[in-house]
Amino acid sequence: MSVEVAVRITRRNHNAFVHLLAALESQGYDLSNVLVTKDINEIIKARPSVILYSFYSQEVDGVKREVEILKSKVKAVFVAGGYHAIAMPKHTLRVLGFDIAVIGEGEEALYNLLLKLRGNGYKVTKDLTEVKGLAFYLGGDFVFTGFAKVEDFWKFPPYPEGLKLISPMEISRGCPFGCYYCQTPYAKGFRMRHRPIDQIVKYSRRMKDMRYITPNAFAYGSPGGILKIEKVEALLRALQPLRKEGRRLFYGTFPSEVRPEFVTRETIELLVDYTDTRRLAIGAQSGDDAMLKAMHRVHKVEHVVNAVELALEYGLTPVVDFIVGLPNETPESQRKSIELMKWIMRKGGKVRAHYFMPLPGTPWARCKPSPLSEEMKKFLGRMAAEGKIEGSWGVQINISRRLQKLIEEFYEEPMSYHGNVKVIC
Ligand code: SF4
Repeated sequence: MSVEVAVRITRRNHNAFVHLLAALESQGYDLSNVLVTKDINEIIKARPSVILYSFYSQEVDGVKREVEILKSKVKAVFVAGGYHAIAMPKHTLRVLGFDIAVIGEGEEALYNLLLKLRGNGYKVTKDLTEVKGLAFYLGGDFVFTGFAKVEDFWKFPPYPEGLKLISPMEISRGCPFGCYYCQTPYAKGFRMRHRPIDQIVKYSRRMKDMRYITPNAFAYGSPGGILKIEKVEALLRALQPLRKEGRRLFYGTFPSEVRPEFVTRETIELLVDYTDTRRLAIGAQSGDDAMLKAMHRVHKVEHVVNAVELALEYGLTPVVDFIVGLPNETPESQRKSIELMKWIMRKGGKVRAHYFMPLPGTPWARCKPSPLSEEMKKFLGRMAAEGKIEGSWGVQINISRRLQKLIEEFYEEPMSYHGNVKVIC
């Protein structure tokens, strides 16, 4: 049986598609027309008119291969969304083979696009210029219809009714901090917006373990840059009846994290009193204040130290993220990160190490990673062998190389929520 739309779901785009499908359905789109699958053979069998992808720049090689296979077997309109399509739409269209890139927040843009395609017999024609949030080629000319923004993203429910799909719930979107390596503010805006508490409670009933997606869990209810403790408390209190029914509540941990300066005695006490959180995920990124400043993190090393100490004092395991090989990172900076990582592990915390990956659409997109010092290589190697360090820094060295090549070869001015992205390197 043929369907109108096939969604190529993956481990990495699963949460985004769950929310997007819910948004389509709530606007009136019938999800019985949609196939959601990890298997491209199922897509081939289903003969859809539209095929949806969403992916990161790290995944483009695999996506390109799949699109080539699908294009040889299925006549469909190929639509790409996600961070790569937003930051590199020309590459997405010309090199990866997509027909349309969705630029920005996709809830309304995708719905409007699907209606247009249905009306025009599934073709890339001039009438698509009426849909905001698209990029495509028309007669050889690149067309961009404007960045799609969904200010009140919460007007759409997080989960669809017509498909059995569940994921951690997106409760906040956007981030004011603008760390130079991060795509979030450029794709989702610098102002944080939040799903209302009653809606979070209503849909949290569907989760067995209640988990949430947010750039900074302790910024719930604020424009993002400050702590509004009463809002965080109101949310966690409102979820207590669901805990009493047997669900576990995880907050400030996978799949989200907290900024270190938001870790205070008060926020930690909320976690202890109202949640089942055992591991607190903290973004540190470097043990050197000069590097933190250079990457526009805004907080300092002392905030990380304080956050780790507080978490441990209350019996939580701090799991602290670092990025190694940052642009212009000296061996001395790396030594400071090693010292901080060692201190965290000695105290009983955990460390997750990542290698710097220049991401399209960020101020550091054209920056090169710094070589790892001998001391850093030995330290990471030893810790990994002993199972003391988490994170994918080893694999990310290769991914980082591929990203640098991609950006060198196909660099384009990224689309952004805010107009131009200030490129630092
Ligand atoms: S890394 Fe975190 S705090 Fe920094 S801009 Fe991205 S989401 Fe915001």
